[in-house]
Formats: sequence, C-alpha cells, structure tokens
Amino acid sequence: MPTIKEELDRRRLLYSLLMPVMNLYVPGLERGKGLYFLFVKSETRTPGGLLARPVLTSYYKSDHFKTRPYDPYNVYTSPNEAILCPDSFQSMYTQMLCGLLQRQQVLRVGAVFASGLLRAIRFLQLNWPQLTQDIETGALNPKLTDPSLREYMDKILKPNPELAECVRHECSKDNWEGIIARIWQNTKYLDVIVTGAMAQYIPTLDYYSGGLPLACTMYASSECYFGLNLNPMCKPSQVSYTIMPNMAYFEFLPHEPDSFGFPRASPPKLVDLVDVEVGKEYELVITTYAGLYRYRVGDILRVTGFHNSAPQFHFVRRKNVLLSIDSDKTDEAELQKAVENASRLLREFNTSVVEYTSYADTRTIPGHYVIYWELLGKDSANSPTDEVLKQCCLAMEESLNSVYRQGRVADNSIGPLEIRVVKNGTFEELMDYAISRGASINQYKVPRCVNFTPIMELLDSRVVSSHFSPASPHWTPERRR
Ligand code: AMP
Repeated sequence: MPTIKEELDRRRLLYSLLMPVMNLYVPGLERGKGLYFLFVKSETRTPGGLLARPVLTSYYKSDHFKTRPYDPYNVYTSPNEAILCPDSFQSMYTQMLCGLLQRQQVLRVGAVFASGLLRAIRFLQLNWPQLTQDIETGALNPKLTDPSLREYMDKILKPNPELAECVRHECSKDNWEGIIARIWQNTKYLDVIVTGAMAQYIPTLDYYSGGLPLACTMYASSECYFGLNLNPMCKPSQVSYTIMPNMAYFEFLPHEPDSFGFPRASPPKLVDLVDVEVGKEYELVITTYAGLYRYRVGDILRVTGFHNSAPQFHFVRRKNVLLSIDSDKTDEAELQKAVENASRLLREFNTSVVEYTSYADTRTIPGHYVIYWELLGKDSANSPTDEVLKQCCLAMEESLNSVYRQGRVADNSIGPLEIRVVKNGTFEELMDYAISRGASINQYKVPRCVNFTPIMELLDSRVVSSHFSPASPHWTPERRR
C-alpha cells in the first residue's frame, strides 16, 4: 500500500480521539496504566527500493509514537524498548514482565486484535515459572539478550517475593478461568477488536477475563484509517464505527444481491458518504491522500444510523475471506490452490481429494487451519501414510500467502495446519443436511469453509484420521522471487 509521511498525522489524529471518547464512559483512566501488547514486525524493500512494512510497525517506529508527549490517559506499562524490539519472544517477555510488575496500576488490558491478547495469555501459561522467578530474585532471564531491554529492566526490576508468590499462586492453578481479572484486579475493560473475523475469539476472551467488558475502539487498515466507535462500551454485536470524513474520500458500492440471491449483472453506481441509507449494505471504496484511487477495500458495511450527519457502520464481513486466525486472510482461490498443490503428493498412491472444506479452529491458542479432506483411493493396498498426509499439510502451508507463513514462522500466531480425513460419503451427507434445511439441490455448492455447529459435529464425527504439519513452512522477510 502506498503511504506518505503526512498520513502519520491522520493516524495520530484518530488515535488522539480514542481516550476522550472512552473517558465519557469509563472515568478515572488517567489514574492508572494500560497493559497493551504491541509489536513491530520485520521490514523489507520493494524491488524499486522503497521501504515496506506493516502499518503499525511504521507507526510505532515513527517519532509520533516514540517521542509522544506525556499524556496521563495514555500511559502504557510496556516501555518503547520492548514494543520496538524485533525479537517477538524478548518483546513479549518484557511486556508481560512489566505488566506483572505494575499489576496494581493496570486499568485496561489490550492488544490490537483479540488474537494478539490471547497469544499473550498463552505466553503467560508457558512462561510464568520463569517470569515469577525473575520477579522473586530481581534477576532478568538470561534469554533476554537485547541490550536496550536489559538496560531498561535493570532499572526497574527489584526482588519482590511477595508479588512473585501472588502471581505464582494464580498461575499454578489448573483453572485459568478469569485469570486476567485475577492478576490485574483493577482492570475495567479489555481493549481489543472483536468485530469481524475476530468475533470468533469472544468466548475465549470471556473465559480468561471472567467476562470483563470488551471495547472495540477503532476501525482501520493498511490502506487508510477509517473511523472510531463512539460508544466503545457497547456489546461487540452492537458495535458501529463512525467514519471520519477527513481520513480519505469515501464512497460506497451498494451491496445488495438481487432477489434470487445472485449478484447484479451490472455494477451499481457509487454512493457518497452523505447519501448512504440506514439499513443498507455497502462495499467500502476509498480514494486516499497517498494515491489509491477508488480502491475497493474489500469490507462490507451496514449503515446503522448517524452521529449528527456522519453515518455509522456495522462491520458485516470481509469479502472473499474464508480463513483468518490473526492478520492472515486466506481466500477461496488461495485455499483451492493449496489443496491442489498438496494433493499432487497423493498421485503416487492413486488417491485424489474428492471434496474438501475448511475451518479456522481457535479452540486452542494459537488457532490453526483445519482442512477436511474426503479421499478417493483406487488402491487400498497402497493408501497414503500418516507421513505423506503430514507432508500434504506442509505443502498446503507452503502454498499459502506470506502473511500466513509469517504468522506461522516469525510470530507463532498461527499453529500447524491440520488435515482431517473424513469417511467416504461424508460430503454427500453434508449436502443432504443442507437440502433438508432448504438448500436448492440445483444450486448447492460445497461450502469451502464451515463454522455452523451441527455441520462441524457431522464432519468431526466422520473423521478417520488427523495429521498436522510437521515443520514450519518457508518464510523470510524478503519477497519470494
Ligand atoms: P490490515 O490492512 O491487514 O490491517 O487489515 C485491515 C482489515 O482488517 C480491514 O479492512 C478489515 O477487514 C479488518 N478490520 C480492521 N479493523 C477492524 C474492526 N474494527 N472490525 C472488524 N474488522 C476490522
């Protein structure tokens, strides 16, 4: 995405409005701190020599963030040194340690997306023995080698056996329900985006937080920041974002399938921000200061009302995205290509994939992609072994896009891909089920992604074997040639 320097001012403007809005609903936040897990990712250069990096990385590395003036409403427990540390383990470890050391001051806990906060909880599950040892002894884990982190921690880490015992007492229990509220007892809400694809994490967040309110404060993208939620303490299902007209030029493509459920033959006309109608769905189209012209972001929004004259939108879904665990977005074509590539490994066993579907399994942390395969083998004496199917998992991962592979390799935000082989005839049963619920036999298409509980139960009850990717796929910050 093209960007320009002055875009940072617009981003800062949007960020600067979040706390004044929040303060209307949750007073007293200036008397404490926010425990936010924020990270930078690696950078690369385009073939033309331009710097390319994720939008948040460029914000955290900018002077706007690094030398921000003191603001009592925006005091974080994480030091800049930790947020800017490129090693994700060292960064997370320090941010968690600082959050534990200042646990009484923490009034809000957050990350950009829900998946990031759950990753932090998982990290605590895996690392609390070492973290509590550091707190007890005042000596920093030797695995932390970054000099600026060590220098910072040397200043604030002092032996505190009482705090260590308190954290140990909570973390050593088998039951982690409500762990966030138990450790950070003064937390008033969780600040994470749980709208759109992130809604899948709400039950898990509720479990670990003991039901703390979830605040979705803003709506933004790499292309452009869009707007904010003026009622941030509302339920996730009620969230609407008010688009700020000064962020870009906004237009809307009406998104209404005709009465037969087919998309319209000719594309409808674009509607201006002032002309959208309550209750209607639109696809967001932006013209940005950085040079995107009438660019389709890929998000479908529904107008829910107005704030003065500014329309407010409910995020309905992203077009064409089947699977998403973290910031990865895998569409139908990518999944299809991955299945094709992987199924080549089955040829020597005279076996083919007759049907497939997928599921983003977020019941474990990190979540992972599950691909259900129905196989047709022509030679039962020579069917593919567990080892071969594991290699199929890896082959699929190798085919997926670089954001997926980065999540797998560098960020550990996505777990190994799993193939679940189902019994022959399972997909026919799936079709029977859909038809029994009113689907048209003529128009039935195998869903390439599923998440409806009865369908999941049907598929899972037919699983004959399950296989996980045995290794990490290839990923480097450089582009693939
Ligand atoms: P990226 O450019 O990778 O950061 O992704 C931007 C996309 O993430 C947006 O176009 C949306 O699809 C999604 N997104 C960002 N903010 C929100 C939000 N508050 N609620 C739902 N989806 C969001």
